[in-house]
Amino acid sequence: NITTSSNFIQNIINEDLKNNKNNGNVYTRFPPEPNGYLHIGHAKSICLNFGIANQYKGLCNLRFDDTNPSKEEVEFVDSIKEDVHWLGFDWENREYFASNYFDKIYDCAVYLIKEGKAYVCDLTPEEIRETRGTLTEPGTESPYRNRSVEENLSIFTRMKNGEFPDGTHVLRAKIDMSSPNLNMRDPIIYRISHTHHHRTGDKWCIYPMYDFAHPLSDAFENITHSICTLEFEDHRPLYNWTIENTKVESYPQQIEFARLNLTHTVMSKRKLRRLVEDGYVSGWDDPRMPTISGLRRRGYTPESIRDFCERIGVAKNNSTVDMALLEHCIREDLNIKAPRVMAVLRPLKVVIENYPENQVENLEAENNPNQPETGSREITFSKTIYIEQDDFMENPPKKFFRLSPGKEVRLKHAYIIKCEEVIKDEKTGDILELRCSYDPSTKSGSDTSGKKVKGTLHWVDASNALDAEIRLCDRLLAEENSEDETTSDFISQLNPNSLEVLSTCKVEPVLKNANSGDKFQFLRQGYFCLDPDSTPDKLVFNRTVALRDSWAK
Ligand code: ATP
Ligand code: MG
Ligand code: MG
Repeated sequence: NITTSSNFIQNIINEDLKNNKNNGNVYTRFPPEPNGYLHIGHAKSICLNFGIANQYKGLCNLRFDDTNPSKEEVEFVDSIKEDVHWLGFDWENREYFASNYFDKIYDCAVYLIKEGKAYVCDLTPEEIRETRGTLTEPGTESPYRNRSVEENLSIFTRMKNGEFPDGTHVLRAKIDMSSPNLNMRDPIIYRISHTHHHRTGDKWCIYPMYDFAHPLSDAFENITHSICTLEFEDHRPLYNWTIENTKVESYPQQIEFARLNLTHTVMSKRKLRRLVEDGYVSGWDDPRMPTISGLRRRGYTPESIRDFCERIGVAKNNSTVDMALLEHCIREDLNIKAPRVMAVLRPLKVVIENYPENQVENLEAENNPNQPETGSREITFSKTIYIEQDDFMENPPKKFFRLSPGKEVRLKHAYIIKCEEVIKDEKTGDILELRCSYDPSTKSGSDTSGKKVKGTLHWVDASNALDAEIRLCDRLLAEENSEDETTSDFISQLNPNSLEVLSTCKVEPVLKNANSGDKFQFLRQGYFCLDPDSTPDKLVFNRTVALRDSWAK
């Protein structure tokens, strides 16, 4: 399901507009629960909800679905706002919190009680589960189901006033204990929880359940199309029941789409939180994380993520998308945008024996062949340079076109050099440095030698190279299988080599002026992004993605 000009949700909206439903308005919302950082799956929902609002000249709200109190939510609220903005979307002044509706939601519950459509149940949570029945067996009615309106109102008020401990009473919607849909068998709509809330403090000790709070929040905001993921399909009858029985003034329509799953990673906040809390990664923004903040730190651009969301499309059936597609999207973007520089990840010292001592020569290097207007920069060449260890082999196989004893290669933007001698550690036999000669008539751009060599290597001048640490990030999960919600043991599937830190890298001096977040193509190596851990003494780069593209188009 690659890009389609119109998806099934747009078809629904087009039909609604034709019928002048909702007076032709299209209002959507993105409703994150602030219990973690946003991930690439959320990006799909953000692009969809804000994208539809933009397309139909409607509005998209940002609503924090914070009906489930927990401690650290403020940090998550802030990170969510930063990430949505960074992705390129703006909710302007339409920032809402479901917790702001607690009074109104409470009033709806009281209304249901008065209508005889909700009752206080004193069964324990286990008893409620046990009497719910199964797909083949109807449930059993609670002995509290026929309490009088007065008694229900009185106990519910006392629940609100904090007279009962957690778990002693719940409020249930009185629907149908033999409904074929288990969600309709007198679902719990309020529970007691003496928990401090990040916004309402200790004002409340009863909190509405998601299935009750969500449709009401949508209705209060006049949302017309409430787009959510497929697992809520079975909840839609309860969503509609809530709207139809609470006297709210608008009738939002719930539409479900398939959530994004990606190979080689986990996506649920619960699992991502475990990685953070148990120290498997350095934080929510660890460059290996599929979080928006992790992808940002890794070097992904908002454009590449939006392009990815566009390409995967919106469908009604669950599937798993190949991580290689996400990598393809960032490669395409950075291929256009990223300036080229040279960096040597695993340096091997090369002394050019026939090059004058103390001479430093300026050479010209183009910044980006895809953006000729960005011009060129000066790089230097001198007697000692570094090349990549991998680019030299003492006993090469036949088709090795890089450097080996007696062979010649071109140094990018510079000269052809020839390997004359290999200097080794006497004891270990390790290669310490190479002695080479250069041919002055082979200067790039003014080569008069007529020589042809097959290999061109990147290199840096030792006289002014900067030290850098380079972090090679790889996939979080070794195996392709995307997250399987039934396996809790994803920890054993973590890729033990998901991070390799190279701490003796040498890079061009032009990178001294780079700012955190700046992105580059390191010639022949891939795309890299300056990490906020950088200091004036030591630059730190993350590899965003290697150059080779494994995405089969
Ligand atoms: P998680 O299981 O990762 O915690 P969630 O659905 O509980 O996800 P929310 O904060 O409630 O997380 O999600 C906000 C919105 O983003 C919801 O509308 C949800 O459906 C959507 N969303 C979450 N995960 C995905 C995903 N993988 N693909 C598409 N949309 C998603
Ligand atoms: Mg949720
Ligand atoms: Mg969740």
